[in-house]
Amino acid sequence: MSERVARGPRHAPAVAGDRRGRLQTPLKDAVGPKTAAALEKLGPRTTGDLLRYYPRRYGDRGRLTELRDLQIGEHVTVIAQVASTSVRPMRNRRGAILTSTITDGRDQLTLTFFGKHAGTLAFHERRLRPGVTGMFTGTVGAYRGSLQLTHPDYEPFEDLDDEFAAVQKVDWPVPIYPASASIPSWKVGTAVRTVLGAQREEDVPEPLPAAYRRQHDLVGVLQALHWVHEPHSMTEVRRAQLRLRHEEAFVLQTALAQRRAAMLSRPATARPPRMGGIREAFEARLPFDLTAGQREVGAVIADELSEPVPMQRLLQGEVGSGKTVVALRAMLQVVDVGGQAALLAPTEVLAQQHLRTITAMMGPLAEAGMLGGAEQATRVTLLTGSLSAPGRRRALAAAASGEAGIVIGTHALLSENVQFADLGLVVIDEQHRFGVEQRDALRAKADGTPHLLVMTATPIPRTVAMTSFGDLETSTLSELPAGRAGVETVVVPANRPAWVQRVWQRIREEVDAGGRAYVVCPRITASEGEPGEEYVDPDDLLEAVEAGADAPPPLAAVEEVAELLRHEPALTGVTVAEMHGRLTTEAKDAAMGAFATGAAPVLVSTTVVEVGVDVPKATVMVILDADRFGLSQLHQLRGRIGRGSKPGVCLAVTTAEEGTKALERVRAFAGTTDGFRLAELDLEMRREGDVLGASQAGRGSSLRLLRVTKDVDIIADARTAARELVARDPALASEPDLAEVLAESLDEETAEYLQRF
Ligand code: ADP
Ligand code: MG
Repeated sequence: MSERVARGPRHAPAVAGDRRGRLQTPLKDAVGPKTAAALEKLGPRTTGDLLRYYPRRYGDRGRLTELRDLQIGEHVTVIAQVASTSVRPMRNRRGAILTSTITDGRDQLTLTFFGKHAGTLAFHERRLRPGVTGMFTGTVGAYRGSLQLTHPDYEPFEDLDDEFAAVQKVDWPVPIYPASASIPSWKVGTAVRTVLGAQREEDVPEPLPAAYRRQHDLVGVLQALHWVHEPHSMTEVRRAQLRLRHEEAFVLQTALAQRRAAMLSRPATARPPRMGGIREAFEARLPFDLTAGQREVGAVIADELSEPVPMQRLLQGEVGSGKTVVALRAMLQVVDVGGQAALLAPTEVLAQQHLRTITAMMGPLAEAGMLGGAEQATRVTLLTGSLSAPGRRRALAAAASGEAGIVIGTHALLSENVQFADLGLVVIDEQHRFGVEQRDALRAKADGTPHLLVMTATPIPRTVAMTSFGDLETSTLSELPAGRAGVETVVVPANRPAWVQRVWQRIREEVDAGGRAYVVCPRITASEGEPGEEYVDPDDLLEAVEAGADAPPPLAAVEEVAELLRHEPALTGVTVAEMHGRLTTEAKDAAMGAFATGAAPVLVSTTVVEVGVDVPKATVMVILDADRFGLSQLHQLRGRIGRGSKPGVCLAVTTAEEGTKALERVRAFAGTTDGFRLAELDLEMRREGDVLGASQAGRGSSLRLLRVTKDVDIIADARTAARELVARDPALASEPDLAEVLAESLDEETAEYLQRF
C-alpha cells in the first residue's frame, strides 16, 4: 500500500507549503474500491478522514450488549453469545432456513438466514456453534412477536481474520464504529487499522504544539490514533480522547484567533464622538434614563469606534434589556462624523419594526431635509426585498449618496448593487440567524473595514460564545430597564378541559382591560409538519415509542387554532389575527398592524414572533404544545410580553405526561426567568448533535469528540493558548503542521460550523 501518494489538495490551498497533501490518499487506493465505496457513504473519503473516524463506543467481550434495549428498525451492532442454531427445510417452498438464537444471558435475539438448500447454510452453521461469542450487525426486525436480524453480518471473536484481532486479548476493548448495512463495524475497524498500520510519525501532522502537549500531559497524535482505534485498555481510550479533544479545540480556536487577528490588522476609520452632534441631541430627547449597563457598554463601544482598528463586538442581553438604544447611540456617533451605519435584521417584520422604533425615538432627528427636521438630522432608510421598484431605487440612492445616515434592512442589504457612500458601522441584530459570510458580505461594502456590532437576545453560554463567536469580544446587558413588571409563567395541562377553558377566559379579561394576547403554535396547518419550527427531543420520541404511542399527538396549528378561537364563546366579538412565515409581506404587515393597534387583540402565530417583535400592550402569551419548543426558544417567546408597565402572564400549555423529560423541560422554563440559566439547561438537555447541527455527525465537521457542554476548561485553555500563539506568530511559521491541518480542513468546515449560530 502506498500511503504517501501525492495528491492534489481537496480545496484550493489557503497557504502555500511543501508539506501539504499528507493523508490525502483517496480511500480506494488504500483499502480497495469496494470497501472505499461503503466507507464513503459513512463519510470518510481520504486516509486522513478514516483515521479521524472514531469508534462511537467500545464493547467489552466479557460483557454482552443488553438485547432488551434494541429498537425495531434500528441498525445495531451487538456483542452476544450463540445459544442454539438449527437448520430446517422451508415449509411451503424449496430451500432451507437457519435460525440461530443469540443471547446476552437474559434476553434473546433470533438470527435468520435463508439458503437454496441446507448445504449452502453449512458455513453459517459451522461458525454459529452454541457458546461462540461474537459481534452481530443488522437491522432489527420483528417476526411473530420476537426481535430478529435477517442475514446479519457477524464475526465470531475466535476467527476474526486480521492480525490485530488474532492477537487481541479478551480484556481489550472492542471498538464499535458507526456502521451501515453495507459495511459492518468490524470491517470499518479492519480498514482503519490497515491505514493506521502504514503510518509513520512523519506521515501524520501534529497540530498541537509540543509545549501545549507537555503542559496538559497529552500524548502525540499517532499514539492517540493507535489508542483510540486499537486500545488495550479503556485508560488508553480516555487518554487518546482527551488529547483529541484538546486538538479539536485548539485547531478551531487557532482558526478563530487568526480570523480575529486578520480583522484587527485591517485599517478602519476612527469615528470619535462629536460634541453638539446628533448623538447628543438624541440623548437629550430620550424619555428615560439609560441603565447603568447601557451606559457602561455604550462607553466601551464609543471608545472602540474612536480607534482606527475595527471594533468586533458581540452585545448580548435579555430580551427587552434595551440593546436597540445602545446600537442607535453607536450608529449616531458614526453619523456625527459623516459616516453611515447599516442595521441588518433577520426578517422583514423585524426590519420594519426597527424602522418604526428608531424613527419614533429619533423624531425630528430622522427628518433631514424635511419640514420640521432638526438641524443635525439625518435620514433613516429601509431596504428590504419587498420594496416596489421605485421605492428600491430611492433607497439605493439614499444609501449610495450618503443622504441616509442609517440604512435598515434584511438580506436585501447584502445584494451586490447596494452601495454606501461611507459605511462606518455594521450592526447585526439577532446574530444566530446570520452566518459569518453574510457578516463579511456586508462589511465588504465599505472602503476600509467597518466597525461591527453583533446583537443577540439569545443568551449564549460561555463555551458556545467561545467557539461560535471566538473572534468577537463580548458585552452583556444584564439588568432590565426599571419599571418592567415582569412575567409570571404557569404550566397548563392540555388534558384538563377546565384549565384550557380558563386560558381563553384569561385572554378575554386581558383584552377587555385593553391588553393583547399572543397564541403561539408549533405549526401552520394541521395537515403538514413544520419541522423547522418545532423542537422534538429525541429522548421524548423514544419515550413515546416505548410507551406504545404510534405517533406523537397532533400539534396545534395556527390555522385551526385561529378558527377555534373565532368560535370560542369566551371570545365572542374579539377579532383574531393570524401570523406565520407563509403569508405575504402585506398580510404579515396587516396582521402585525391590527395586533399593535388593537383592531385584532389576539394574534395566533408560529414562532415568527420569537425575535424582537415589540408590542408593549401585549400582556398574555399562550404557548400551545410548549414542550415542542426548546428552552431558549420558549424564553424568547415569553420575552414578547411584560414589556410595558403591566405584568405579563405566560401560559405554557402541554400534553406532556407526568414523569417525562418534556414536562420537566416546560417546568424548568416556568421556574426561572434567567435566560442564561435556561440556555445552559437547554444545552445540557439537548444532545450534542442538535446543538452543533446535523453536519456534526458527518464528514463536514472537525468537531467529533469535543463537547461544548462538558469541555469548558479544554475550550478555555485552547483559546488562551491559541490566541497567544497567533499573537506571537500570526502565520504559524513555527507550527507548520498546525498550519497544514488548518489549511486542509478548516477553511470549509469552520465556515459551515460557524454558520449554525
Ligand atoms: P431588546 O434588547 O430586546 O432589543 P429594546 O431595545 O427593544 O430591547 O428595548 C425594549 C424596550 O425598552 C423599548 O421599548 C425601549 O424603548 C425600552 N427601553 C430601553 N432602554 C430603556 C431604559 N433605560 N429605561 C426604560 N426603557 C428602556
Ligand atoms: Mg431587539
